[in-house]
Amino acid sequence: MLSVHKPEILAEILQNAIGQGKSIGFVPTMGAIHRGHVSLVERARSENDFTVCSIFVNPRQFNEQKDLDLYPRPIESDMALLLDAGVDVLFLPDSEEMYPPDYSAPYIELGQLELLLEGAMRPGHFRGVAQVVDRLFSIVQPSRAYFGQKDFQQTVVIQKLIDQRYPNIRMVVCPIVREANGLAFSSRNERLTVGEREQASFIYEALKTLKEACATEPLETAINKARFMLELVEDATVEYLEAVNAHDMSPVDDLNAASTIVAVTVVRYGGVRLLDNIILKQS
Ligand code: AMP
Repeated sequence: MLSVHKPEILAEILQNAIGQGKSIGFVPTMGAIHRGHVSLVERARSENDFTVCSIFVNPRQFNEQKDLDLYPRPIESDMALLLDAGVDVLFLPDSEEMYPPDYSAPYIELGQLELLLEGAMRPGHFRGVAQVVDRLFSIVQPSRAYFGQKDFQQTVVIQKLIDQRYPNIRMVVCPIVREANGLAFSSRNERLTVGEREQASFIYEALKTLKEACATEPLETAINKARFMLELVEDATVEYLEAVNAHDMSPVDDLNAASTIVAVTVVRYGGVRLLDNIILKQS
């Protein structure tokens, strides 16, 4: 595995690979690599000839300085895990390379996505995400880019970016990888105590209950049942729990309202915002 810091060097390596007719699979991350990230790399490897992974903790997508400061950066173990997963090139740019003084961010139209759910809870977050992924796409120019269903609204944002600026890149959305108790892997899980991490299985339990309840009860009743389960847990605060149209994140109140419907939630627990979701209906 090659580690590269400079975009020009990466571009040279990739030109070489493309010249040999190789397809490029790309996995952007912020590091603190876990099994969720590794699943993306494995999928990229299985579908492409050459796999690029990036680690960049993007300051522009954090809206709390504390969250940025606390973000884990275990670079040595990350490199060992990515080497093991079979990454060909690890791209490790620093902020000056990603955002040089003459860089001006392109305008990406995100519409309602900036105002709904994560967009509403974290003003500016998706603009930062769209900018960094735009910059990474312009450098890597992959054939396929791999993202996790875990950050569902983010995948809708990236699809909008692709539609507007990168019609040749195909986004592949990979399933959520969970810890043994059902908690979705996340770099932020490290901030939970051992007890909290074990207890945090209640989020997935509630989502499964919601999905099951949908089969026999109105959507609203099922949502209320799951919300009640989440709120029963001491010290847990539900920021949101909603069923939405998977194409644009607009709220739905009936399973017939859209072809693909997902229930998305954020629960604050142990001082950490834990994101999760479950697909209720897929066309
Ligand atoms: P991050 O490093 O948190 O920016 O995540 C990088 C990529 O990994 C994003 O596309 C995430 O959606 C994805 N990802 C994070 N956690 C998981 C998980 N538990 N399962 C699958 N993909 C994940």
